[in-house]
Amino acid sequence: MHRDYLLEVKNLKKYFPIRQGLLRRVAGNVKAVDDVSFAIRSGETLGLVGESGCGKTTIGRCILRALDPTAGTVLLHTNSHSIDIAQLETRKLRPLRKDMQMIFQDPYSSLNPRMTVLEIVGEPLRVNKLSKGDELEDRVAELLHLVGLRSEYMNNYPHAFSGGQRQRISIARALSVNPKFLVCDEPVSALDVSIQAQILNLLQELQRNLKLTYLFISHDLSVVQHISDRVAVMYVGKLVELAETDELFSSPLHPYTEALLSAVPIADPDMRTRRIRLGGEAADPSSPPSGCYFHPRCRYVENICRHETPEFENLGSPNQPHYVACHLAEKLTLGGIA
Ligand code: SF4
Repeated sequence: MHRDYLLEVKNLKKYFPIRQGLLRRVAGNVKAVDDVSFAIRSGETLGLVGESGCGKTTIGRCILRALDPTAGTVLLHTNSHSIDIAQLETRKLRPLRKDMQMIFQDPYSSLNPRMTVLEIVGEPLRVNKLSKGDELEDRVAELLHLVGLRSEYMNNYPHAFSGGQRQRISIARALSVNPKFLVCDEPVSALDVSIQAQILNLLQELQRNLKLTYLFISHDLSVVQHISDRVAVMYVGKLVELAETDELFSSPLHPYTEALLSAVPIADPDMRTRRIRLGGEAADPSSPPSGCYFHPRCRYVENICRHETPEFENLGSPNQPHYVACHLAEKLTLGGIA
């Protein structure tokens, strides 16, 4: 184990059975997450990007055991020992849930409209028997202050707040139990662009002050570039590339990453790249194509790509790893953005 890692995900799989007929026999599987491995260092933000439906959120939910993985390990390293969350019995998971929390995409539906802010933010404290009464109220006031909200409003209901303020309430709730690790699932996608930067800056400030570790899931590469130390790119249930953010954006090694980057809006006209339009739809995870799953849409496809699945291997250095799953990665020169 690398001593700096907080979390190591190894060969994670999540298959959803497809049932058919009167007897509901299993006729196949949707391979939402298919043999994915990565690790997250303590205090870093790992961005996870890919098109909608590629399995990003399923990975986040498997790590938190909101979904039970089909196979694989999810090791959480603490100071004294390591725990495989993927295999843990439900009752043994309960104390760990405090260490790992989630911030959801939609602050409009993730907050109960019938609960006050005090009840929403204080609920995890109450349920985990961490505080009650005046002490709980003081802690909620402190949490609201931490996320830039005034504690006078703690008796108001969510409808009285804007989208950005609601997301701050969600963040305060997630932080209430002093987690080490947060899965941020598209936390700014439902917000106006002007508010997005404020929430991203808040997340970065909280990370610095509270030594938090983030898995930041998004389909928006500009957002991921802003907040991530490293970025993993996902396509149809598999990771296809993983590298330091600057390296991945300036020198991508996978044609899918190149296509995603070509669609990122850039203000400087001299820096703009020609947009690569991907033909067809993303592959169906219940019957993916043979070989490289990306081959029907890849403009560099060669015969080997149709028959052999590329390994996810490190083409960088030991100090600056750059993982990619592409047969032609060493011979292609792909366009990135600075
Ligand atoms: Fe494209 Fe072949 Fe690389 Fe797949 S393995 S991304 S089809 S070049």
